[in-house]
Amino acid sequence: MSEHANLLRRHQAVLPSWLALNYAAPIEIATGKGSRVTDAEGTTYLDFFSGILTNMIGYDVPEVREAVERQLATGVVHTSTAYLLRGQIELAEKIARLSGIPDAKVFFTNSGTEANETALLIAAYARRTDQVLALRQSYHGRSFGTIGVTGNRAWTNVSYSPVHTHFLHGTDRHLPQFAGLDDEAYTRVCVQDLRHVLAAATGGDVAALIAEPIQGVGGFTAAPDGLLAAYKEVLDEYGVLLISDEVQTGWGRTGETFFGIQAHGVVPDMMTFAKGLGNGFAVGGVVARGDLMDGLHAVGLSTFGGNPISMAAANATLDYVLDHDLQANAAEQGATIIGGLRAAAERLPIVADVRGKGLMFAVELADPATGEPAPALAAALMEALRERGLLGGKGGLYGNVVRMAPPLTLTAAEAAEGLAILTDALEAVNAAAA
Ligand code: PLP
Repeated sequence: MSEHANLLRRHQAVLPSWLALNYAAPIEIATGKGSRVTDAEGTTYLDFFSGILTNMIGYDVPEVREAVERQLATGVVHTSTAYLLRGQIELAEKIARLSGIPDAKVFFTNSGTEANETALLIAAYARRTDQVLALRQSYHGRSFGTIGVTGNRAWTNVSYSPVHTHFLHGTDRHLPQFAGLDDEAYTRVCVQDLRHVLAAATGGDVAALIAEPIQGVGGFTAAPDGLLAAYKEVLDEYGVLLISDEVQTGWGRTGETFFGIQAHGVVPDMMTFAKGLGNGFAVGGVVARGDLMDGLHAVGLSTFGGNPISMAAANATLDYVLDHDLQANAAEQGATIIGGLRAAAERLPIVADVRGKGLMFAVELADPATGEPAPALAAALMEALRERGLLGGKGGLYGNVVRMAPPLTLTAAEAAEGLAILTDALEAVNAAAA
């Protein structure tokens, strides 16, 4: 048995069966530099998924490495958040300012799940209710509370949870009842439905609406710009809070705005974040209106949330994003790739949709004969991309979407290279399906 095959056997023996691995022959990534990773067998790939949106500014960034090394050199990896932690204070100040939320305060966690769990707790405390609204097809984490607000049953096959959730329309334009509706008409229907849910189904006794501005594992499906603002107007009438889950959409990734929800022209009551902020180091958190945040006083600290190593990595990453205006770079490189993919899609019947904003884009695949979602074609595209030296991520409600979120540092040459690989792989899968 090869060493690689043996590693896979050991993985399967001791790790959960649902910890899904990409590719028929899963990869062990050994090293990384910039936008590329090299596996243990020496093959180098363009990483168009940044790990899992974790390596937001690429691999082995000197500024991040040096910041972490400086902290390590003090001899303190972590003590306790019961002491003053300079890095935590500095990062909270930056995030509070960038959020646009009035009198904002920040609580750091180690993951997106914990961040959303905390936001739901804050809302439940503030509103004294366990009823919550979420969007269909959503994904917010894998804890007992967050699976309850996850509407994508491919990612959570559990339907019991301590929260009582009502799922709203917002990203389900594909449903036949919405055929032919433009953004304005669809938004109107969604808002009417929200009013109905508030008045008839919940009595308005609702803590919050939690929503991803662009759904991540849902397949990069987005609500029409402005829908969350229209929702907030109605929510405000009832005092219901709005939580924007920015775990995938934050820090300029979408190109047009720094946080995804800003495209809707509305300031939420809370935002949650994680994934890329530590550029691979575990950092998550909630930024919320100060009065809401302080309302959670009885819950206390997180042992590791806000620890000095994570804060050093996150401060260096965020500074890098701002200093190099990576939001603008995401807009520029994303426009090239999305434009190129749309042009290619016109001659590729397997491509049902090309969507996204900035460096967050996806290709949806359908059976060319029936138009039905085609997860097998998405799996074939993942393999074809890998063979050509590019890593992506699978997703979508039916597993028929290939998602891409390259590092925000992607160069124009890498964008062109990635687009060429994507086009070639799509053409090969299309030809095989014909
Ligand atoms: N929210 C969104 C939008 C996500 O995409 C994810 C993870 O994919 C989470 C929350 C959960 O984050 P974590 O896996 O860090 O717990």
